[in-house]
Amino acid sequence: MEFTIDAKIKLNDGHAIPRLGLGVWLVSSGKSCESVVRAALDAGYRHIDTAAFYGNEESVGKAIRDSGIARAEIYLTTKLWNSDHGNPERALERSLGKLKIDYVDLYLIHYPVPERLRSWRALAGLRAGGKARSIGVSNFTIGHLTELLANSETVPAVNQVELHPYLYQRELLDFCHKKNIVIEAYSPLTHGERLNDAKLVAMARKYSKSPAQILIRWALQHDVVVIPKSAKRERIIEDADVFGFAISAEDMRTLDGFNENLRTCWDPTHAP
Ligand code: NDP
Repeated sequence: MEFTIDAKIKLNDGHAIPRLGLGVWLVSSGKSCESVVRAALDAGYRHIDTAAFYGNEESVGKAIRDSGIARAEIYLTTKLWNSDHGNPERALERSLGKLKIDYVDLYLIHYPVPERLRSWRALAGLRAGGKARSIGVSNFTIGHLTELLANSETVPAVNQVELHPYLYQRELLDFCHKKNIVIEAYSPLTHGERLNDAKLVAMARKYSKSPAQILIRWALQHDVVVIPKSAKRERIIEDADVFGFAISAEDMRTLDGFNENLRTCWDPTHAP
């Protein structure tokens, strides 16, 4: 499979999302966040994943506006936070006001809270109004998606979930593939928790790559969007240097076998 840094995946609504993006959870708002986003744009990233909850939308927006790169060339995601389900329209307006940008490319329900079905209808309206080009969900299990699809004609463009070899959600991947929902892999570097795992380090050595690069490449080869986070310029560059090599089919199977159902962030399995 041949990829480049500007390679995209087509979504079910006709738009397309870059396969690689920079995640900015835990990047503090202010100058440091601006320089992190700028470093990513300089390194060729054209996709930034933020959220109202991350508290850094102002800085993300400023870095994008100051970059001089045309808005249409940058893919921007933000998310509806759990306490904002009472009024998703107002929540998106607030996010856009902080970003000082007219629209987001993707607006996600951050977590499957009980009000999710009503909010999903509101997001469909936001998409129709053009404030969000695409809409999707995050942390949805097969059960949550099945319920949503039974209650709405609008199929989410994306389901953003934790995914890496230590949490290889094979059934969810297959389900979303069949329903034409693109998976975005969050915490693809295991939030840093398994980067020193001996079997991953050995695999990285075999390819003369870093453990982080192996994990990002694994996600790309599973045909999912991947959004690693780093607040360090050298690592931002390193994490995008994953297009000049390929993991063999046999080693992909070995990596798949690392699964231990490790969840470094949320566990939505029992979210009612
Ligand atoms: P990641 O799995 O991307 O790991 C980030 C950690 O890895 C940081 O400690 C970072 O440190 C370190 N790191 C990055 N690159 C390297 C490297 N090349 N070598 C060594 N260490 C490295 O973590 P996140 O949990 O942040 O996930 C990524 C993004 O996914 C988030 O930022 C967010 O956008 C999204 N996300 C979405 C969630 C949701 O509920 N929808 C939940 C969690 C994440 P340093 O910064 O110091 O380089």
